[in-house]
Formats: sequence, C-alpha cells, structure tokens
Amino acid sequence: MQMDKHNPWSYVRGFQSYSFCDWPAKISCVVFLGSCNLRCPTCHNYQLAWNPETLPQIPRDRIFAYLDKQKEWLEGIVISGGEPTCTPQLESFLNELAGFGLPIKLDTNGLRPEIVRNLLEQGLVQMLAVDIKGPWDKYPVLTGNKCTPQQARESLEPIMDMSVNKDCEFQFRCTKVPELTWDDIEEVKSLLPVNSKLTLQDYIPVN
Ligand code: SF4
Repeated sequence: MQMDKHNPWSYVRGFQSYSFCDWPAKISCVVFLGSCNLRCPTCHNYQLAWNPETLPQIPRDRIFAYLDKQKEWLEGIVISGGEPTCTPQLESFLNELAGFGLPIKLDTNGLRPEIVRNLLEQGLVQMLAVDIKGPWDKYPVLTGNKCTPQQARESLEPIMDMSVNKDCEFQFRCTKVPELTWDDIEEVKSLLPVNSKLTLQDYIPVN
C-alpha cells in the first residue's frame, strides 16, 4: 500500500507492543515509520527504510486502542524507523501520540536538524537518540553516497548544539560497522559536545 503524503499514519509500517531495550531503563512501545533519506549498506531495516509500501500499514485505531489500554503500564513511546523525520506532518503525528501522556523518544540520523529543532521547541520529544554514522569524511561510504561530509557536518553540528536543551535527554550512538576503525570511533567521540558520551553498538551482519 502506498504512503499518503497528507497522512503521517500511512507511514506507520511496524509496531512493537513492548520493548525493554529501545529506551534504556524504560518499558516502551515502538512505532516504526517507513522511508529513509539514506541508503546505508549495513542497514538492518532496509525493507522498512527503502520499500515501506511493501509492508502492511498499522492502523491508527489499533495503536490508539492499545495505548488506551496499556498507558498505565508503559513508560514511554519510541518513534523509530527508517528515518522518522522523513514522515510528513511529524509534528501533528507526535501531538496526537502525546495525548496519551507518555514521554516520547525519537530515533534519528540527525540529517534534518530543522525538523528536530521544531519538535524540541514544541516540547514533543523527551529523548532524542542520534546516530552518528562515523567521521564526517566517511559519510559517503557509510550512507550509500546519500550524504557528503559537508552535509553530515552541517546537519549534525546543529543537532549537537541542541543537546544543551535541558528538557530533552540526548543519546549519541555509533554502530561499529566493518568500515569503521577504532581510530574512526575515537574521532567520532572527539566530535561530540563536552560531557556527552558515545554509545557504541555492536554490528550484527545483515543476512
Ligand atoms: S539511516 Fe538507518 S534506516 Fe536509514 S538506511 Fe541508514 S541504517 Fe537504514
């Protein structure tokens, strides 16, 4: 089923009722939004990211009914992807979810800083997990040539500056894919704001 640019709910192509790891120390549910602006060769969610229309849409009513019933037990809602900032009208989508009174975590590759900035200014996101793919000069090879070193730097530096926002917790993550050396990881750490830590994730090869 095709996505409808006027309906953000048409981008919902996955839903996980419970997760104990997507938001550290919280019991959350996870909403997966299809489509992505990158083509990382190591992507684990490539069907969701690149061909979301081949996955069934999860109806809004089903998610609302679930949240209505389970909101007392859940501690947060995680919005993941794909790349969530590719979803049109993301602000109104998050506003609807915020009506359940649960905090929201957004996973992002950080390449659309103005969308992120707006969501933070609206107070719609309480935790932001930002994937740093590697040092800026490795972005082309790490993203399927969808992002230049300059684009990476000019997008992610403003996101790092936003981490001074005290109403939102930031997590910077990097997956140690085979293209990255340990020197690259050290370089990524040096790019982060003072007092920020890098969460290093193991790479599990795509089958
Ligand atoms: S940014 Fe994430 S979802 Fe998009 S292609 Fe890369 S790994 Fe896949």
